[in-house]
Amino acid sequence: MVKEIECRDAGIDCPFMIRDEDENELASLAQQHVKNTHHKNLSREEILKTAKEV
Ligand SMILES: [Zn+2]
Repeated sequence: MVKEIECRDAGIDCPFMIRDEDENELASLAQQHVKNTHHKNLSREEILKTAKEV
C-alpha cells in the first residue's frame, strides 16, 4: 500500500510530493522536508494525518 504526502494538502504552497510504501520512511522524509524548507516542526502524527493512499 503506497501512501502519498503533499505539502499542498497541509495548506502549504509548495510542489513537494512524496510517495512511499513505508509509512515510517514517508513520515520521516516529509518531516525533514518541512523542517528544512518550511522551518516548521510537525509531529509524525500531524504528517500522517495528511497522507492519503494512492
Ligand atoms: Zn514543502
